[in-house]
Amino acid sequence: MSPEFLRRKNPGARPTAEAGPPTPLPEEVTAQEYQLKLHYAGKSSAGVRFKAGPRTIDEIPSMLAGIARSDVEVVEPLPIEYSQATPSIVHPSEAMQWLNAHHANSPITRHALMVLESIDAVDLAFDTFACGLLEGEIDTSGYPEYSAIVGGVASHWDEGNGDLVLRAVVGWGGRGVRGDTDRNGARILGGLLTNILANQYSMGLTALERPVPAAGRGGLVCAHCGFASAHERAFYCPKCGMRLLRG
Ligand SMILES: [Zn+2]
Repeated sequence: MSPEFLRRKNPGARPTAEAGPPTPLPEEVTAQEYQLKLHYAGKSSAGVRFKAGPRTIDEIPSMLAGIARSDVEVVEPLPIEYSQATPSIVHPSEAMQWLNAHHANSPITRHALMVLESIDAVDLAFDTFACGLLEGEIDTSGYPEYSAIVGGVASHWDEGNGDLVLRAVVGWGGRGVRGDTDRNGARILGGLLTNILANQYSMGLTALERPVPAAGRGGLVCAHCGFASAHERAFYCPKCGMRLLRG
């Protein structure tokens, strides 16, 4: 004889809970509220045109002199294998690429990239970014507080003529906002732009638009430095600035 629990139930049987009369639904549901407000913001200056060349690239970190309150780290454009890298943890493939690309950077740089990539102020498909802590505090793990201002100088190659275009970029954000951060960000942006324009290789402000980020599967491999660009329309290697050979 099979045990009680293996017996077939009567297929027509309905639950026979000996419940009392049904509890009426409450007029209003009592809910426990949860909320997290994140606030990211930033500013980018107009572009400043430079004659292309290794001298200019080497000069860029010095443009943060007197402004940066940490070491300045230079982040180079991402190669094709990181073309989907995005600082968004709910997209694991993109997030893994982003972490693999940036896990060796300093906490300040990683925070700056997360803020500035999230608000689309920096795009490592074509930008080279020299950045550091510009104002405010870091926590005990070395990460900037929400009111700290991070940023520096982003540069990319003008696809028209191969000139280098530099711009000042600052950003901040996290769990909170402070009333004076926007004004301080504008002041620091002005200081960075002054440093860029004061450089001996500067050719002045340019109205050039930023390149349209690559949507496809990336561009060409640089014959000069071997960099595989993730920027589909690039005519100049995002990393070394040499003309890419097509066809
Ligand atoms: Zn190259």
